[in-house]
Amino acid sequence: MRRHEFPRNKEQHEMTTRREFIGGAARALAGVAFMGCDLVTGAHVNAQGAPAPRRQVVVNGRRMRTVDIHAHCAFPQAMELLGLKPEPAGMVMGPSRLAAMDQQGIDIAALSINPSWYRAERDVAQAVIKLQNEKLAELCAAQPERFVAFATIALQHPDLAVQQLEHGVKKLGLRGVSVGGNVDGVELADPKFHPVWAKAEELGCLVFIHPVPVPELNKRFAGRNGDLRNIIGFPLDTTIALSHLIFEGTLDRFPGLKICASHGGGFLGSYAPRSDAVCISLPQRCTGVTLKKKPTEYLRQLYYDTIVFTPEAMRHLVAELGASQLLLGTDEPFPWNRTAVDHVLSTPGVSDADLAAMLGGTAARLLGIRT
Ligand SMILES: [Zn+2]
Repeated sequence: MRRHEFPRNKEQHEMTTRREFIGGAARALAGVAFMGCDLVTGAHVNAQGAPAPRRQVVVNGRRMRTVDIHAHCAFPQAMELLGLKPEPAGMVMGPSRLAAMDQQGIDIAALSINPSWYRAERDVAQAVIKLQNEKLAELCAAQPERFVAFATIALQHPDLAVQQLEHGVKKLGLRGVSVGGNVDGVELADPKFHPVWAKAEELGCLVFIHPVPVPELNKRFAGRNGDLRNIIGFPLDTTIALSHLIFEGTLDRFPGLKICASHGGGFLGSYAPRSDAVCISLPQRCTGVTLKKKPTEYLRQLYYDTIVFTPEAMRHLVAELGASQLLLGTDEPFPWNRTAVDHVLSTPGVSDADLAAMLGGTAARLLGIRT
């Protein structure tokens, strides 16, 4: 079996994952250090009274620093301003988050807050963002070796969003910006957001796009089983957002813009060549905007998390988008992907250097995490 070939049976699987060796002594030692730290005060507040092991991710003898690009949080005080509560409770940061990170082998989480303020009036949105960004900065400052965070911005008020982005990155030390896949029904490619992308490009900071509901499709998604609103709606929101950013020429206008899309880029990771085919098969439908490249070529300059669930899906993502564009993601505290590290390690046909990049190397570079 080639070293990175996907295992076909349990024994082979154990052989493959053995390269990700967890030394018992190192694991026990590291487990004592961080388990149950209070996130703000730094005090050790172990809920169970027993330290849990911190997983050390090692590939062929080399310790990997892992960075989770897709980790949620929320602050109740900010949500109160919108008449909302954090849901689920695990969105509120506490000792259990570090315990989950330790158990899963996540060294650093890049925290983001899902937008729930895109309908808020200017003064409310301003207050929500100020509070959230300050809380994020405080949390990261208390545990700089475990957390970085994306700034939140009130995209529905683009001039305000530009100020919030600059303040969040320059004054508060936040490492990028998180946005929804649409802004209360308005596409990210809408020209009104150009000043925001110009500022993100100028700052060189990563834009993390997380899907939000697509209420226009709720009638089609309704049903008794499977939560289609989420399983189809979220990847579709991302797919639509990225497709407009490509076809409307936004990525040509801001060639230095660094974007990371959630959930492996939605459906584009699987079916992007159709975007090229339309301009060849039906060229009359590609005359509104003159693009500089084929649509799929833009996809290879964007970044994506690894939440795609199977080694075959990872193999395909690598083939379509490139290992250099993939960033480890968990979706914590949502229980979609609790074996995110193993999932990346099981990617067939990639080098150790690719694994190091996917597990955290690329994210560290994009987020300005120093070695
Ligand atoms: Zn998520």
